[in-house]
Amino acid sequence: MEHKKVQELRWDPVLGEWVMVSNIRDLRPWQPQSFCPFCPGAPETGVGWDVLILKNRFPMLSEEPILPEKHEFYSTAPSYGKCYVVIETPKHDIDDISDLSTAEIYRVLESIKKKQEEEMVDPKVVYFLFFRNKGKEIGVSLTHPHSQIYVTPFIPSKILRELINSNKYYSKKRRCLFCDIINVERNGKERTVAITDHWIAFLPFYAHWPFEVHIYPLTHVQVLPQLNSEVIEDMARIVRKVLCGIKKVFEKPMPYMMTLHQAPLRGTYKFYHMHIEIYGIYRVVGKLKYAAGMETGGGNFTYDSTPEEAAHILRNIIDTKCEE
Ligand code: ZN
Ligand code: ZN
Ligand code: FE
Repeated sequence: MEHKKVQELRWDPVLGEWVMVSNIRDLRPWQPQSFCPFCPGAPETGVGWDVLILKNRFPMLSEEPILPEKHEFYSTAPSYGKCYVVIETPKHDIDDISDLSTAEIYRVLESIKKKQEEEMVDPKVVYFLFFRNKGKEIGVSLTHPHSQIYVTPFIPSKILRELINSNKYYSKKRRCLFCDIINVERNGKERTVAITDHWIAFLPFYAHWPFEVHIYPLTHVQVLPQLNSEVIEDMARIVRKVLCGIKKVFEKPMPYMMTLHQAPLRGTYKFYHMHIEIYGIYRVVGKLKYAAGMETGGGNFTYDSTPEEAAHILRNIIDTKCEE
């Protein structure tokens, strides 16, 4: 078969969501070779930086996407957007960002905020998704600490679902759904794992993953650029604590995914409340929870314990092993 270059968004009319399709491969490998491409002094990194945000070499989205071919039946759209890699530290040999100081994590968060402010002016994108994958078990091949940003021309499906449900809740009760959840968790405490001046971290009542932690600002805000440096510093503090806990629950560091959920870049979403979601995916040490038939095929998660039990375990680890 002839290799035709494709880089486009394909609309799934059955589920009603976009799939990003690309067979474009950069010929210059960004794979681990004899040197680390993210270390200071590598061809793309240079020297003299604390945090570096680079364009991804294998982007699913591009500023000059190949235009999709017209299709009689199916809908497509150009894969316009940007994919970045956030190199969080020049230090190659740390295991995770929880091994960094609060001040170092603060600089990472400020860099992300600044990038988001830059992207807000591009009228062709609507969403800024920051995420972090950790662990070779979930396919992270480059061990140098890094995370990613996708700036997309559509609202990611999970965010859209949150927007729809929180909007419904707000229309009915005239209150923020997330503020109400925060109040319940602040008073109940059985699922809370950490609390700081400006933030709260807890396992949701409805957690999907074994060690799923949601981190919310206590004040009602929609996007990262609304936060001042004091609140971002405190965000760094609670993120470090929670990731430290996740790392130390078992003898072996737990693989996890972390995503920042915010309102879209444009439009008013007063009913929404930004937050971080972390999914720690070990059920017991070395045993991954898979999104298998029921979860991926059916769409509903099974939880083989209770979030309250997992919160109890995680809270104890954070309190005893993750102080500053
Ligand atoms: Zn490195
Ligand atoms: Zn709120
Ligand atoms: Fe969320």
